[in-house]
Amino acid sequence: NADIAMYVAKELKAGAVVFQAEEHVTAPSRLTVLGDLRRALEGDGELFLNYQPKYTLDGERIEGLEALLRWKHPTQGLIPPGDFIPAAEGTGIILRLTERVLDLALAQMRCWMDAGHAVPVAVNLSTRCLLDAGLPDLVQRLLTEHRVPAELLRLEVTESAVMGDAARCMAVLQRLHDLGVKLSIDDFGTGYTSMAHLRRLPVDELKIDRSFVLGMTTTAHDAVLVRTAIDLGHNLGLTVVAEGVEGAEHVTALRELGCDIAQGYHYARPMAGEQMSELLERVGTIHDGTLPVA
Ligand code: C2E
Ligand code: MG
Ligand code: MG
Ligand code: MG
Repeated sequence: NADIAMYVAKELKAGAVVFQAEEHVTAPSRLTVLGDLRRALEGDGELFLNYQPKYTLDGERIEGLEALLRWKHPTQGLIPPGDFIPAAEGTGIILRLTERVLDLALAQMRCWMDAGHAVPVAVNLSTRCLLDAGLPDLVQRLLTEHRVPAELLRLEVTESAVMGDAARCMAVLQRLHDLGVKLSIDDFGTGYTSMAHLRRLPVDELKIDRSFVLGMTTTAHDAVLVRTAIDLGHNLGLTVVAEGVEGAEHVTALRELGCDIAQGYHYARPMAGEQMSELLERVGTIHDGTLPVA
C-alpha cells in the first residue's frame, strides 16, 4: 500500500517512532515499541513524569498539577505519550505503566508534602485500567505506602473510557471515589457522554478539551461549546477546567464565562519535578496550610 509506505517513510525520516493503530503494516514496529517499553519498565529512569500546573482563573494561583508521562528512549530520544500509550493500551502493559506512574507521582507528592506543599496531583488513566477490578486496591496500596491522603490524588478519565463498558467502569469509579480519590472527566467535548450518564458519574471535575479552548476566541461554534460545557459542569456541581490555554485572550474569555481553572502554555509548560519544586517554593498553592500534612 503506497500511501502507508509513504507515511512510514516520512515518519522514519522525521526520526519518529513508527507505529499506528492500523494493524497491517505497522505490527512489527508496534512490537518493537512494546518490547522496548517492557524493558523500560524493568529499569528506572527511562520513564519519568513531568508536571503541569493548573491555575485558578480568579487570582491565578496554583490549584493543582497534572502528571504527564515521559519516555526517554535510549536511542530514539524523548517519545511523547501519544506515541506509545495507545500501543500499551492494547495490552496488559498499560496496567504496569499506570502502576509506575502512580508510584512516581505519589513518591513526588510525599516529597512535596514534606516540604510543606499539600498539592493535589492528577494522573491520567486509560480505558483499559477502568476495566480492571484490581485498580482501586492498587491505588489504596500505593496511597498507604507513600502516606499520601486519597483527597490529594486525582484521576483523569476520558469520556470514551467510561462509555465502553459502562457498568464495569462505573463500579471501578465508584470504588475509587469511595476511597476519597477525586475524579475528572478529561478531554470533555470530544466523546459522547450523555447528560444523564454524566450526572450519574461520581466525578467532581470536568476538563474542557483544548481543541475547543483553542478556537473559542476565533470560532463562534467553539465559543458556544465552551460556554455550554462550563454551564453544564456548573449545573452538575462540578469544577470546570479549561485545558490548552495558550493566550491572554483565552484567559479573559474564560473568566467572563465563569470557568474555574485553567491549564496551558500561557501559564506554564509541563516541567520536571525539580523545576516544579522551585515553582512551588516560589508561589505556593491555594491549599498550602489548609490540607492535612501527615
Ligand atoms: P491530556 O491528559 O489531555 O494532557 C494534556 C496534554 O496537552 C499534554 O500533552 C500537555 O503537554 C498538553 N498541553 C498542555 N497545555 C497545552 C497548551 O497550552 N497547548 C497545547 N498545544 N498543548 C498543551 P502530553 O503530555 O503529550 O500528553 C498527551 C496525552 O497523553 C494526555 O492528554 C493523556 O491523554 C496521555 N497521557 C499522558 N500521560 C499519561 C499517563 O501517565 N497515563 C495515561 N494513560 N495517559 C497519559
Ligand atoms: Mg489529562
Ligand atoms: Mg486533557
Ligand atoms: Mg487533551
